[in-house]
Amino acid sequence: MSSEFDLIAKHFTRATPDAALGVGDDCALLLPSPGMQLAVSSDMLLEGRHFSPQDSPAGIGHKSLAVNLSDLAAMGATPRWATLSIALPEVNDAWLTAFSRGFFRMADLHGIELVGGDTTRGALTLSITVMGEVPPGQALRRDGAQAGDDIWVSGVLGSAAMALAYRQGRLFMEQIDAARVLPALYLPMPRVELGVALRGIAHSAIDISDGLLGDLGHILQRSKTGAVIEFAALPTLPAVQDYLQEAVARECILAGGDDYELCFTAPPAKRDCVLAAANDAGVSVTRIGHITAESGLTVIGADGHPLTIEHTGYDHFAA
Ligand code: ADP
Ligand code: MG
Repeated sequence: MSSEFDLIAKHFTRATPDAALGVGDDCALLLPSPGMQLAVSSDMLLEGRHFSPQDSPAGIGHKSLAVNLSDLAAMGATPRWATLSIALPEVNDAWLTAFSRGFFRMADLHGIELVGGDTTRGALTLSITVMGEVPPGQALRRDGAQAGDDIWVSGVLGSAAMALAYRQGRLFMEQIDAARVLPALYLPMPRVELGVALRGIAHSAIDISDGLLGDLGHILQRSKTGAVIEFAALPTLPAVQDYLQEAVARECILAGGDDYELCFTAPPAKRDCVLAAANDAGVSVTRIGHITAESGLTVIGADGHPLTIEHTGYDHFAA
C-alpha cells in the first residue's frame, strides 16, 4: 500500500523540461513565452456521469485530458501545461498505471506537461486544468462571428452520441457499424493543430462537447447573430448513413455530445485558407451553413423545409 506521495511520485511525476519547476513543491513555476496570452481552462469528469466504472482506465486517462485539450483547440491556443486533481476511492496500482499511461500518451501527443495537481480519497473524480498560449488578439473566441460568415465543422458529427445510444440500448446498430462509432466516444482526438492553424482565419470557434446545435448556439448568443445550417451538409461517417431514418440517430448528429470537433466561422473570402489550414492539420472540414444578422438557428432538412428541433444539446441542470 503506497502513500499519497509514493503514488504521486510513481504515477504522476515526469520530467517537465518546459516548466521551471514541476511536481513536488508547493507550486509549479512556469515561464510563459514573452508577449503571449495564457489561455486557461478546467474540466471535471465524474464517474457515473462522464465515464462508467467499467471503462478502461487508459481510456479515461486519454479522454480526461483530450476534453481539456479540446478547449485549448477551440481557442486556437498552443498547449503548454496541465494540472490534475484526482479523488480516488482506493489506491489501485494497476488502475493508476493504466490511467497515467493513457493520460501521458495524450499529453505527449500535444506537447503538454503535467506540472502539478492534488490527490485525495473520495468518489472517483478528475479535475484537470490546462494552460496554453496564444498571441494577443488571435484567440478564436465565441463572440467573433459575423453575418455572412461560413459555418464549418471539423471531422464528423454524431459518432460519439450514437456509440453511447448503442451502448445504452437506445439505438440498434450492426456490430460492424457500432465498431466504427465507438472510438469517437472512448478516444476523442482534440483538434489542437487545426485550432492553431485557424488563427487569423476564423472569426469565431467553439468545440462541440454538448452537441452541434447547443454549441453553435453559444457562438450565436455571444456574437448576437443567427444561423442557417443544412442537415444534408452535416458530415457523418459512412457507417452512420444507414441509420438516419431513426430519429435517435438524427438527434445524435444535431444535438449529441462528446464529439470534440471544432465548429467555427470564417468569411467566404477565406475558404481556401480554411481548407489549407485543415490540410496542414490533417483534418477534414465541411461547410454546413452560414451566419445571419437575424437571430435564431434554422436547420434546413433534406426536403428544403426547416426542421422542428426538440433537443438542442446536453445541459447538466436541465429538468
Ligand atoms: P500540498 O500539500 O501543498 O497541497 P500535495 O502534497 O497535495 O501538496 O502535492 C505535492 C506535490 O505533488 C505538489 O507539487 C502537487 O502539485 C503535486 N501533485 C499532487 N497530486 C498530483 C497529481 N494527481 N498529479 C500531478 N501532480 C500532483
Ligand atoms: Mg494538496
